[in-house]
Amino acid sequence: MATTAPLLWLDGSLIASADATVPVMAHAVQRGSLVFDVGSFHPTPRGTALFRAREHVARFLRSAAIVGLSHPYDEETLVRAAAEVVRRAVQDGGASSEGLVRWSAYFDATEPDLLPARSTAHVAVAAQLLSSAPGTSQAATIRVATFDGARKAPPEVFPPDAKAAAAYLGPLLARRRAIAAGADDVVLLDRDGDVAEAPVSNAFAVVSGELWTPPLGRVLPGITRDSVIAIARDEGIVVREERLPREVFRAADEAFLTSTSAPLSPIAWLDGRALTAPGPVTLRVLERLEAARHGRGTEAWLSYVGRDE
Ligand code: PMP
Repeated sequence: MATTAPLLWLDGSLIASADATVPVMAHAVQRGSLVFDVGSFHPTPRGTALFRAREHVARFLRSAAIVGLSHPYDEETLVRAAAEVVRRAVQDGGASSEGLVRWSAYFDATEPDLLPARSTAHVAVAAQLLSSAPGTSQAATIRVATFDGARKAPPEVFPPDAKAAAAYLGPLLARRRAIAAGADDVVLLDRDGDVAEAPVSNAFAVVSGELWTPPLGRVLPGITRDSVIAIARDEGIVVREERLPREVFRAADEAFLTSTSAPLSPIAWLDGRALTAPGPVTLRVLERLEAARHGRGTEAWLSYVGRDE
């Protein structure tokens, strides 16, 4: 369960989250033009820290640029805004110092045309406290389905690097189909029928001890994906960022999905086949990833929110 903190950052000021509303006729709502990014924060031995906040903000700025949402904020400002809302949320929230931080950019004016005439977007940064840790070595396993007709929009239809609200409608319908088929989630295929990614996570397979994941250019550059690749290579595991045929995925020894909020979900059932979940490679990566998020790994990945450093 995630609860939005009472205060959020909007266009440079802290305001009550309840006051940050958007009219139903806004372009963001009617056309789904809002862009966003979701990072996480965690307790560490040196205080609460954002995990890879710079990479999340860089991706957020790229999403806004792709969709044409201009605003005056740079990376430094938006990392500091996140640290500020998280520090406040943790102070007010008591026991929990684990949660998510969400950057959003959107047009809130009524825009009858498809292309908005207005040139400046609003930017909001909000913290959400989680009542339980988002991931542990006892990570919840999931059941995953693939369908020939559940595809990710190809790059020439929609750039996979942009996290825009409108891009999630196709994946939403595909996940609904997977749930109707008795699974928890869907892995979408790309234009060529190879594995792309799940609606809100990247896909990995372990095949003969090697870790496979589809290449960038067809999938969102997931920050957890990047962390997993770095950790796996450091562990001496061969990582193949290559086209992943659906049949190779289905026959994998282990498979998992990655996202900031999970962060690693071992797949226990894939198109009717049971898999060991978590398998030994998955577990090795998961333990290192959770250690890194909690301050026992790559120091450069952390941005502390406290005033004490
Ligand atoms: N793919 C898509 C389409 C997503 O929305 C997400 C969630 N941001 C991911 C992958 C995972 O990315 P990350 O690890 O940066 O959360």
